[in-house]
Amino acid sequence: MSADASTPRRDPRLALSRRAYLPRIIGLGLGSLCVAATLHENAAGWPLWMLLAINGLAWPHIARWWSTRSGDPHTHERRLLLLDTLLGGMWIAAMGFSVLPSAVFATLLCFNNIAVGGLRMLAHGLIALTGGAAGGWLILDPPTFALVPTPLTLLASLPLLIVYPLTIGQIVYRQAKALVEQKRLLTRLSRTDGLTGLYNRRHWETLVERHFADEHPPVTLALIDLDHFKQINDTFGHAMGDQILRRAATFLREALGERALVGRYGGEEFGVLLPDTPIDQALALLDGLRERFPHPDVQGDTLLPCTLSIGLAEPADTLSDYHDWLRHADQALYSAKTQGRNRVVAYTPVTRSA
Ligand code: GH3
Ligand code: MG
Ligand code: MG
Repeated sequence: MSADASTPRRDPRLALSRRAYLPRIIGLGLGSLCVAATLHENAAGWPLWMLLAINGLAWPHIARWWSTRSGDPHTHERRLLLLDTLLGGMWIAAMGFSVLPSAVFATLLCFNNIAVGGLRMLAHGLIALTGGAAGGWLILDPPTFALVPTPLTLLASLPLLIVYPLTIGQIVYRQAKALVEQKRLLTRLSRTDGLTGLYNRRHWETLVERHFADEHPPVTLALIDLDHFKQINDTFGHAMGDQILRRAATFLREALGERALVGRYGGEEFGVLLPDTPIDQALALLDGLRERFPHPDVQGDTLLPCTLSIGLAEPADTLSDYHDWLRHADQALYSAKTQGRNRVVAYTPVTRSA
């Protein structure tokens, strides 16, 4: 069986139901302890014990199963939470409104409601809680009021009071961590060109703008264009063209090293920022790179006529913004093309070539 087939996809609509599962097991399991303590002290009959066993132990699993069967699991899970709240209110009545466990139940249930649906859900939760308490008070053969908890009820409330918030804290921490990682991934994706893995044009231009504003030159800007690339596409197909673009990107990244900021400026055009590099040094560096640029072969024999034209510019004081800087590099690149391609030209008012 393939990895894809053996790893079931997680249905995002079930996210809330998945998140609620463990807290429900722990909350209802430990909440049952409080209720069991008062049922024991009041010598309650077996129907209440049965109801407690179902609600406290079996219900979390039934609720989870039920959510997976629902056409709209998210809305369904919100309804289940209101049902939890209603039943919680009923158990508060069954405990004779004993102050400590009642306050713990009410607080945690309200907390769950507000965490899932904000103040609106809290309002619904409060209605469900009050309705459950009133219903329980009416149905459960008037319970004895026991506002002050006995030592047993007090002890039985502690596990819920301590363990439930810790569980929620751990879940919130894990979610916050996952969110930070997702944000990091999204930021990286938003800056990356999908085909080559280089910076995309938008992000690369922000780097150009930042370096333009920097008070500490030297820095050189280069625009690199593949010569006669359309012919390669037309002769060998778009897929081969893509492969050559990827190879060119890898070549540039490896040849220029970590300090150079390489981006995909357009279809078959790359942009490079060379910090701490005066334009004369950049001219020599990129001319060497142009000479070494590999001519990829097709099926082992035909060498593709793949060469580079490169235009360079430095941020002169007379430039008003980084767009002018890019324009100068583009003019130098244009000059390289008109002079016959496969060369490096640095911008000067009268441009010069290597
Ligand atoms: P020049 O020497 O003047 O630069 O000629 P050229 O053929 O390289 O330039 P032109 O602008 O005429 O053609 C660029 C070609 O690049 C056209 C377009 O189909 C191709 N191209 C642009 N983006 C991609 C891409 O992502 N993949 C592939 N395979 N081709 C692309
Ligand atoms: Mg080209
Ligand atoms: Mg081009």
